[in-house]
Amino acid sequence: MTRNPQTGSEFSLAHLLDDIRDHVRPAFGRGKVADYIPELAGVNPRKFGMAVATLEGEDIGTGDCDEPFSLQSITKLFALILALNRGGDEVWMRVGKEPSGTPFNHLAILEAEQGAPRNPFVNAGALAVTDYLMGKTADVAGLMAGFIRFSGAVEGGAINDAVAASEITTAYKNRAIANILRAHETIDNEPNAVVDAYCRQCALEFSVRDLARAALPLAASGYSPRAGETIMAPRLVRRVNAVMMTCGMYESTGSFAYRVGLPAKSGVGGGIVAVAPGRGTIAVWSPELDRVGNSLVGTIALELFAQNSGWSIL
Ligand code: GLU
Repeated sequence: MTRNPQTGSEFSLAHLLDDIRDHVRPAFGRGKVADYIPELAGVNPRKFGMAVATLEGEDIGTGDCDEPFSLQSITKLFALILALNRGGDEVWMRVGKEPSGTPFNHLAILEAEQGAPRNPFVNAGALAVTDYLMGKTADVAGLMAGFIRFSGAVEGGAINDAVAASEITTAYKNRAIANILRAHETIDNEPNAVVDAYCRQCALEFSVRDLARAALPLAASGYSPRAGETIMAPRLVRRVNAVMMTCGMYESTGSFAYRVGLPAKSGVGGGIVAVAPGRGTIAVWSPELDRVGNSLVGTIALELFAQNSGWSIL
């Protein structure tokens, strides 16, 4: 049993997740699966998986919680952690920490601000972080897959080459962004090489159970209860959680904070990972997206979770 810190009452995480799975069902059909990456368009829109990993080592899931899905922008979170671990504050010379209030692949603001990305979670910032990691490894996606596996002590996960190829052939906007970044010397590598590395990273697939496990150090001051090691410094954890809280949910970051009250990062594959500091992590996957690109059903599920568990930092 788990204690609700707001009401003091005890509840079962397993029952709560199953209840949420049943409650969200009427919301299916209200969103739209991402189709601007052709390979993602074929995903079954009715998929739903949710998992919670706790600091005590509990690990609970419901629905399609063990089925790998396309992490997409959720990889920006792991890229940021890897970059901060390797370069510390040097990373902030390339990207800012302010919400953008614009779509994740917006161009005009980047040009107006001399190629300085607002934050690491818009595509411009993520491309700059990937470029930084390319200075440390020839295989950013491979490095990230290894890090996710180590952090969560999980074995699954793979790069979906068809999804990567599909995005690489249609990445017109990301190429434009990368070219602006190169023109302003925000990135060091050739724009096309950076876009390719970024698309491969976005094509990583893990299940929500593995995702919740891998993100657990963000709830545990950098310690991975599963790996039995500290994988990032506590001061970096605070920074990453702050950027998630203010920039993690596209242009709905404010309303997500209002509804859920947890730092989180979403991706157009329909996944969201949320952090409840000192308690655990929650990952959800449901491919239909709302108008800004967040999982519609996933957001409802997290709202229900926060309401009923009392796990909210606000
Ligand atoms: N690979 C996607 C893109 O750059 C990720 C977008 C997202 O998940 O927000 O368009």
